[in-house]
Amino acid sequence: MPDATAEGWASRRIPLSPPHLTGRELTFLAAVLDSGWVAPAGPAIQDFEAAVGGATGFPHVLATASGTAALHLAYRVLDIAPGDEVWAPGFTFVATIAPAVQMGAVPRFLDVDPGSWTLDPDLLRRELRAAARRGRLPRAVVAVDIYGQAADLDAIVAACDRWGVPVVSDSAEGLGATLRGRPAGRGARIATYSFNGNKIVTAGGGGALASDDPVLVARARHLASQAKDHAPHYQHSTTGHAYGMSSILAAVGLAQVAVLADRVAARRAVFARYVAGLADLPGIGFMPEADWGRATRWLSAIRIDPTRFGADREAVRLALEAIGAESRPVWKPLPDQPVFRDAPSAGGAVARTLFDEGLCLPSGTGMTAAEQDRVIAAIRGACRG
Ligand SMILES: *Cc1c(COP(=O)(O)O)cnc(C)c1O
Repeated sequence: MPDATAEGWASRRIPLSPPHLTGRELTFLAAVLDSGWVAPAGPAIQDFEAAVGGATGFPHVLATASGTAALHLAYRVLDIAPGDEVWAPGFTFVATIAPAVQMGAVPRFLDVDPGSWTLDPDLLRRELRAAARRGRLPRAVVAVDIYGQAADLDAIVAACDRWGVPVVSDSAEGLGATLRGRPAGRGARIATYSFNGNKIVTAGGGGALASDDPVLVARARHLASQAKDHAPHYQHSTTGHAYGMSSILAAVGLAQVAVLADRVAARRAVFARYVAGLADLPGIGFMPEADWGRATRWLSAIRIDPTRFGADREAVRLALEAIGAESRPVWKPLPDQPVFRDAPSAGGAVARTLFDEGLCLPSGTGMTAAEQDRVIAAIRGACRG
């Protein structure tokens, strides 16, 4: 707990994106404990899945132990096999592709569009055509919502439909965002979400897999609890996983999903305050909001042009660290990660420039105006332009 003295508050560390509790988590938790369903089963799970269905617009939802587990299950139910290609934007978190790689898939990384920082549909269209000519289409394409901005799923799905390639939406960072009026992830064959502690709402860890297709979700549900066949004894026709969400976490998640709209408004307000406090500085840019939807601004991301600003993003990060504020460079492109040195890719210059210049600022909705003013003052103080 923070020290409540004036000095303690003034020096309180400002994390990048800490959990923001609602005060109602304990009520939901007490109900689960009273019910005795302290397991990855029970009414709290069903209620949580219904709440996620309400928030995402999907009729079929499976609660999972993490967003990464949901992605792994998505790749399982799409029958990704060793040697299959799975395409993803290079500008994302490693968990987007890690489970597919662990299943033996070959990743191919495509660049993002500078207007949205999400998968470039024109590049995807060209690459699919070239892959069809080579006779080696990807087994799946993953679209990724970034920092609260939905990828342009309409364009991505249209490009993939032409070749019969299924689209997975990694919407771990997109919950609460919209795409042409509908919730982020809607339109993909399978969408996955995360309720990790740093996301816009949290279950204290957890995820979800969602689809319009009840068969896919039923298969994922089967695999998520050790692939037990219907028999009185333990019988297995395939191997599964221990990927169910605990009711304890579902209780916390229920309290949190209920306030999603408030959290979106608050994250957007944090972003707007950064714009008001920083936009006049030379060489500062902000993550653009694509015209196809409404971003949540889960993380407020800026770009710093070092020649005009007079300092680079690492100098700004260190200036923030010096006042106890946590910031992070934007995603280091996956093709530049040592583990993916040999992976094929297409383009990548946009993601590299974003990594050179991009910084995610403290974006928590529990941050006070005074704390955000300290962050803004430290960034202004670092400007030498
Ligand atoms: C957080 C995140 C994940 C993984 O979610 P976990 O719940 O932490 O496993 C996957 N993809 C992206 C883009 C993320 O930001």
